[in-house]
Amino acid sequence: MKDKILKRFLKYVSFDTQSSDTTFTHPSTVKQKELAKYLVDELHALGVDNAFMDEYSYVYAKISGTNDEKTIGLAAHLDTALECSGVVNPKIIEKYNGEVIKINDYSFLDPKVFTQLNNQIGETLVTTDGTSLLGADDKAGIAIIMTLVEKILKEGKEYPNLIILFTPDEEIGEGTDKLNYEIFNPDFAYTLDGGAITDINYENFNAATAFLTFTGKAIHPGSAKGKMVNSQLVAIEFNSMLPDIRPDNTELYEGFDHITKISGGVEETKAEYIIRNHDLDLFHKQIQDFYDITEKLNAKYGYEVVKCVIKHSYSNMSEKVTKMPYVLDYPVNAIKAKGLVPHFVPIRGGTDGARMSYNGVVTPNLGTGGYNCHGPLEYASIDEMNQMVDILFDMLKEIK
Ligand SMILES: [Zn+2]
Repeated sequence: MKDKILKRFLKYVSFDTQSSDTTFTHPSTVKQKELAKYLVDELHALGVDNAFMDEYSYVYAKISGTNDEKTIGLAAHLDTALECSGVVNPKIIEKYNGEVIKINDYSFLDPKVFTQLNNQIGETLVTTDGTSLLGADDKAGIAIIMTLVEKILKEGKEYPNLIILFTPDEEIGEGTDKLNYEIFNPDFAYTLDGGAITDINYENFNAATAFLTFTGKAIHPGSAKGKMVNSQLVAIEFNSMLPDIRPDNTELYEGFDHITKISGGVEETKAEYIIRNHDLDLFHKQIQDFYDITEKLNAKYGYEVVKCVIKHSYSNMSEKVTKMPYVLDYPVNAIKAKGLVPHFVPIRGGTDGARMSYNGVVTPNLGTGGYNCHGPLEYASIDEMNQMVDILFDMLKEIK
C-alpha cells in the first residue's frame, strides 16, 4: 500500500493547482479543474460510478456502506497556497537517515529545528527542490482518502456510508462558498488537512475584519497650525490605543489584532485589521475596543475622523463540535489503538470545517503527515500517510 500512496501523491502534486485571490471566479483558477477531473476518472476506475465534478470544480462521490446507519463525510482540498509556486519537482528520500536534509544551496531541513524529523528516521519522505511548495497541503489528504476508498472497496467488511468531497479554493478562504449541502449532507465529517497524524483540530479562531477610514483636514503645511488634521497620524494614534496583542507576540490560545493593510495621505488613510480569538467573549471585547477607540477619537476631534466597519469572517467550530463529543472520540480511539498519542491542537486560523460545522455538518480536522506547508520547506512522510489510511479504516468500522 505504501508504494501505491507514494505513486498517487506524486501524481497529484504534478498538477499545478494554485488558487488565486484576484480572479473572483469559481474556481479561482481553471487549472484546479484538471486535478478534479483526474480524481473523478480515478474514482470511476475504482468502481465509484457516481463520482462527478460540478461546474465549480467540487468533486463529490458516494459509497454505500455495509453498515449503513450513518453517513460520514471525508474532505480534502484541491488547491495549493498563494505564497509559493505550485509547479513542483518533488524529491524522494527513502529510509531517512536522521541527518540534515539539503533542499538546495540555501534551504535545509534540520532535525534540530524541525524536531519531528527525529521521529521519522527510516521513513520515506518527499521534499521540494526548493523552488516551490510541495502541495502536501492538501494532496496528502487527497492521497489518503483515495487510498482509503480503494482499501475499503477491496477489504472493507463493515463501514458506514461515505461521502467523499474534494473542494477548490480553500487557500483563499472560499473552499465552501459553492459547496452543495444537498449533496454533502453526512451525519458528520472530517477534513484531512492537518500536520502530524496524531493531531486533531476542532478549535479555530473566531474571526472578523475591521475596515477603518481616517478622514483628515488637508491644508498647506506652512499655514496649518491649529487647522490641519493629518489622517495618517490619527491612524497611528488609533493603533497606539489598541491592546498590544499581535501575531508576533501571541501563541496557542492568545488572540490578536493584526494590521494587514494601511495606505493613505494627509486627507485620507485606510487601514484593515484582522481580529482573532478562540474565546468568544474575548473576541467580542476586541471588537468592542475598535468601536470604543473610534468613539473616543471622534469625540476628541469633534467630527467623524474615524469610520469603523467590522465584518464577521468565521466562528470557532468548537461550539458545534463539543455538542457532539463522539465525533472526536472516534479518531482519538483509532489513533490510540495504533499505540500513538492523540493531541488536540488549536488552529490559529480558519478551516473549511468551521464553515461546514456552522452549516450543519460538524467537521473537525485530522492530520495527513504533511509538514511546513506553504513554502519550500514543505515535506510529507509517506509512512505517516499510509498509517493514516489504516487509522481511518479502523475508525470507520467503529462508527455505527
Ligand atoms: Zn490545507
